[in-house]
Amino acid sequence: MVNVNVSALRPQASKKDADYVFYELTRSICPVCRRVIDAHVVIRDNKVYMRKRCSDHGPFRKKCALCLSVGSFVRILFYNHAQRCLL
Ligand SMILES: [Zn+2]
Repeated sequence: MVNVNVSALRPQASKKDADYVFYELTRSICPVCRRVIDAHVVIRDNKVYMRKRCSDHGPFRKKCALCLSVGSFVRILFYNHAQRCLL
């Protein structure tokens, strides 16, 4: 049996945790050209952000307009889910 040290074969990469939690992928509008673009809803430092990138105007990150804290965001999610269940 050949004993191979696998860690010696891999480049030493220091893996670092992201400083945010990805929640969902959605669509939004570029604030400059008003084109519809992909956006990520992320949670960071107990706040909800929308990250988006326009191919022409670069990245944007702003706090979600509807909710400033994760608690408010979760309450809105529960409200929306309850409304769907009533229909
Ligand atoms: Zn744009």
